[in-house]
Amino acid sequence: MHNSTRFAVKDVRIFDGDTVLDRGTVLVDGATITAVGDSLDSTGFEVIDGSGATLIPGLIDCHTHPTGDALALAILFGVTTELDMFTVPERLGEQRIHAAQRNDVADIRSASTGATVLGGHPSMLIGLSFREQFPVVTGPEDAAQFVRDRIAEGADYIKLLIDNGAAMGHPSPTLSEEAARVVVDEAHKHGLLAVAHATSADAALIAVRAGVDGLVHVFMDQPPTPEVIDTIAEAGVFVVPTLVTMGSLAGDLTGAAVAEDRRAKALIPEDWHRNLCQCWQMGSPSSLDNAKQAAAALRSAGVPLLAGTDAADVGVLGTAHGISLHQELALLVECGLTPTQALAAATSVAADKFGLTDRGRIAPGLQADLVLVNGDPTRTIADSLSIDRVWRRGEVLDRKLVKEHL
Ligand SMILES: [Zn+2]
Repeated sequence: MHNSTRFAVKDVRIFDGDTVLDRGTVLVDGATITAVGDSLDSTGFEVIDGSGATLIPGLIDCHTHPTGDALALAILFGVTTELDMFTVPERLGEQRIHAAQRNDVADIRSASTGATVLGGHPSMLIGLSFREQFPVVTGPEDAAQFVRDRIAEGADYIKLLIDNGAAMGHPSPTLSEEAARVVVDEAHKHGLLAVAHATSADAALIAVRAGVDGLVHVFMDQPPTPEVIDTIAEAGVFVVPTLVTMGSLAGDLTGAAVAEDRRAKALIPEDWHRNLCQCWQMGSPSSLDNAKQAAAALRSAGVPLLAGTDAADVGVLGTAHGISLHQELALLVECGLTPTQALAAATSVAADKFGLTDRGRIAPGLQADLVLVNGDPTRTIADSLSIDRVWRRGEVLDRKLVKEHL
C-alpha cells in the first residue's frame, strides 16, 4: 500500500497552506513531507521539475456524502480528504476501509448519521441517497443517547440538522432548539465538534444559540442583515457555505462550466457529468445571490469560511465529488476571498477547524498529500483545475487508471 519512494519537487512555487514561497523545493520520504525550503539538497531523491507550477496541499472538501466510487472521483481532482456530513454506518464502514487501505481514493472523516427528527431533513432526499432506515432524535430526552450512539459508531464530529423547510418552500418537522442544545452539549462533553445544517437565517440563529462550532451551509432564504451576521461572528463559529449546492437548490447554478472544462471533461464519468449539468428547482424564496451576499458579509465580519460542496450521489443535482470543489473555490473568490484565502479554506483552515493535525499544510512531518498544478492558483484561482499530479501519503496517483475504473 505505502510505497517507499523518495522524491523532490524542485523549483516550484509552494503554497504551504498559509503563505506562498515563490521558488523552492519539497522533499518527500515515503508517506511524509520531510523538508521544505529554497535551497535543499535533493541527492538520493527522484527529482520532479516544478518550474511553472505550484505545489499545494491536498484539498479538503468540508461537506460531502461519499458512497460508491465517490472517494476515487474526489482524488482525481486533488481532493485528498472528504468530510462526510451524513451517512449510515453500513456505508461508512465500506468507505473507511477503502480510505484506510488504498492511496487511490480520498481519505474520509464522518459525522455518521446526523441528528434530525422523524420526517425531518434530509428525509425528503432519502429516496435518492439512503434507502436504509436511520436513527432519529425524538426530543431533548433522547438527544444525548443519540450522540453517544454516534460516537460508538466512530463519528469524528456530530452533525445536527435544523431546517423547517422555509428556505426550500417545503415545510418539514425539525429539531427543537432545546434538543439541539442537548446534542451540542453531549458532543462537547466527549470532545467532539458539533456542526449544523441550516439553510435559513432563522435556523442558523437557532444553531448558534444551541452552541454549535460550525454551520455547514450558508443561509440563503433572505439577504444577510447586520444582526444575523454579527450574531454568527460573535459566536465564533466557522461556516462552510457550500455555494455550489445552495446555487443548485435555488435553481440558479449548475456545474456545467466545470463539467465542460477541457481540463476535466475526459475524467468525469458520464452519469456524474449529467448530474453536474443539472440543478434543483425548489421554487423557494432562496437564491444564490442571497447565499453569496451572506458569505461575503460573513467574511467581512471575520468569520472563517471553509470550502465544501455537499457532493453526494448521482441524483443530488449540480455537484460531483472533487470537481465541484474547484467551482466552490472560484465562488469563494467572487465573495471576496483572495485566491490564497480560498485555497486556505480548502487546506489549512479546514484542517485547523476539524482538528486534522497531520494534513492541510506543506510542512516537515506532515502527511504527503499534495497536488501539483500548472500555473499559479494563488493569483488565478481557476488554475486550481490545471492538475498535473496528485499524491496521497506520498504515492503518486495514476489518474488515467482511476478514471478507467470509475
Ligand atoms: Zn449535506
